[in-house]
Amino acid sequence: METFEDVRRLRLVGGNLALDFVNTRTGPPVGPPDDDVLTGYPELVAWAGYAGVLTDAEMARSLRLQRDDPDATQAAFVRSQRTRDRLDEVFRALATGRDPSRSALARLRDDEAEALGHARLDRAGSFVWTWRDDHTADRPLRPVVHAAVQLLTTGTLDRIKGCGGCRFVFIDESKNRSRRWCSMDDCGTAEKARRYVAARRTRASR
Ligand SMILES: [Zn+2]
Repeated sequence: METFEDVRRLRLVGGNLALDFVNTRTGPPVGPPDDDVLTGYPELVAWAGYAGVLTDAEMARSLRLQRDDPDATQAAFVRSQRTRDRLDEVFRALATGRDPSRSALARLRDDEAEALGHARLDRAGSFVWTWRDDHTADRPLRPVVHAAVQLLTTGTLDRIKGCGGCRFVFIDESKNRSRRWCSMDDCGTAEKARRYVAARRTRASR
């Protein structure tokens, strides 16, 4: 059985499901990504399970669907990549103080209409959208799309930021909005090490 180690090594540091979905591609802060953990439908399913939007039973059902109807799951995988491109565009624009393009927002609206068309309202305190009855190949993606729209409509948009050391985007929940890194363990530590080396070099050259 596949263990999907690359997916499980990812840090979920976005603070929002849609941002964590954008963060499935890694690389430098600007320019094209240099790696992507979502290499196929099974990886998409594994990520959705890892991110907490599919139960084990739903993951197993999605993987069965991939065996039974590979054309449908491949098409869903291609759609998920397009959606990720849109979310990447929308949230990267907001992180740099720009407005997302009208066309990206219109396509996201279409994705949301499609997602809600397969949702149901369940009581969890107040009512929430769930996709428990959705057995289609697009099931892993729907909560991601909905999280994106919720963030756009109810979130504090000026807290959406890009990491200074990599291409990850995240919500800065810190009190004084001073978070600069996706994670102190990764980019924060790399930056501290870089500064330490630079300071030593300055001292040595005196
Ligand atoms: Zn980073």
